[in-house]
Amino acid sequence: MGKSNGLRVIMFPLPLQGCINPMLQLAKILHSRGFSITVIHTRFNAPKTSNHPLFTFLEIPHGLSETETRTRDFTHLLAALNRTCESPFRDCLTKLLQSADSETEEEKQKISCLIYDSGWIFTQPLAQSLNLPKFVLSTYKVSFFLDHFVLPQLRRERYLPLQGSITNSEDDDLVEEFPPLRRKDIFRLLDAETEVLDSYSDLILETTKASSGIIFVSSCEELDHDSLIQAREDFQVPIFAIGPSHSYFPGSSSSLFTPDETCIPWLDNQEDKSVIYVSFGSGVTINESELLEIAWGLRNSDQSFLWVVRVGSVHGKKWIEAIPEEMIGGLNEKGRIVKWAPQQDVLKHRAIGGFLTHNGWNSTVESVSEGVPMICLPFFWDQLLNARFVTDIWMVGVHLENRIERNEIEKSIRRLFSETEGEEIRERMELLKEKVGRSVKQNGSAYRSLERLVDHITSF
Ligand code: UDP
Repeated sequence: MGKSNGLRVIMFPLPLQGCINPMLQLAKILHSRGFSITVIHTRFNAPKTSNHPLFTFLEIPHGLSETETRTRDFTHLLAALNRTCESPFRDCLTKLLQSADSETEEEKQKISCLIYDSGWIFTQPLAQSLNLPKFVLSTYKVSFFLDHFVLPQLRRERYLPLQGSITNSEDDDLVEEFPPLRRKDIFRLLDAETEVLDSYSDLILETTKASSGIIFVSSCEELDHDSLIQAREDFQVPIFAIGPSHSYFPGSSSSLFTPDETCIPWLDNQEDKSVIYVSFGSGVTINESELLEIAWGLRNSDQSFLWVVRVGSVHGKKWIEAIPEEMIGGLNEKGRIVKWAPQQDVLKHRAIGGFLTHNGWNSTVESVSEGVPMICLPFFWDQLLNARFVTDIWMVGVHLENRIERNEIEKSIRRLFSETEGEEIRERMELLKEKVGRSVKQNGSAYRSLERLVDHITSF
């Protein structure tokens, strides 16, 4: 750690894997710059505190029912968390500020600010009333954060009732208000589940504009140049794009699940760029027939693979028991199936040649940082936008267009691994990786943004 600067930062992540990782990465960065860190977190999906002995953790009760903690519907989970956590968070923060006031001169540390996930909607007014500077941390791609405010309007005015079917020829048209999404992406984005988020939209916009700044932990000028210009204009608060933040402190120590480390020695025995890594992050669930289609696609592609199937991620099943015994034998000849992987180490491994991904923003950025081309299979929300950037803008991957079918999966793996198209994709990915890699090095755009952030927090 750098020498203590006598300042404490309070952080409040959403209790989801894709949100905890970047928040704790920022915590590590700030700690290395001399800040003390207090993380307020829910009992639900609590981070493994023992992995971060230098931080102070304060747990608040989440108040969720048993069913709510098991829900696969993230929009309702988010709504429930915002309903139940407000008052415990208020109590916790108020106590923290009071105890800081009563500290003796020697132990006194100034609480300089609160950094909270943009998905918490009650934090800003509370911090305001307590006179505490507050930063919104967004784990989204900047362009998604910026443009998703248009979704309620799209739902109201143009896309409801859903016009046409997915096979309509217009469905490939770009959506002017939310490029580079296509109409068919918007249909999926505006599914019934996300409607509950519409009511938050204006509030998030308002509170973000009233914040002390926005921190994009997993993006940088090189990935989001135009959107950053637009965001500065729209929000009129300081904006910091310091990512990919995992590059400052590589490693997966904020995993909520235990990573199966045995996949690394297995990868050591594979040839360079010969393995397709398959993972759909911490939230996606699939049904039994989709599991089987993926299994067949992998097997028929004849490519070696490392496949993460999370426990409970196949509807109605514990794990992979839906795959027939005789097929498992065949699969084991070419690959490994694990319950959770040390993903950043996996993507870094020389044996990995491609990533079949759901395009969560963390996974997408981790893949770019390691120069691994992607096969995109987005399921919901920002994943749809991230995938379009990968395939249509940066052209560093191929898109499955939601076809979870064995032939399509096999074809996409062959496109990436054996065809000229794959080589071209690889070359473009190498260039993007270098550009993004430079941004977190001294004098790079992300690095400079981080310096500005540290100065800004210190100035309070
Ligand atoms: N991850 C991991 N092991 C796995 C799958 C995912 O460590 O087997 C990590 C991954 O490195 C990333 C995070 O979990 O940092 C997933 O975040 P992302 O935004 O990609 O997706 P989400 O889980 O939010 O859908």
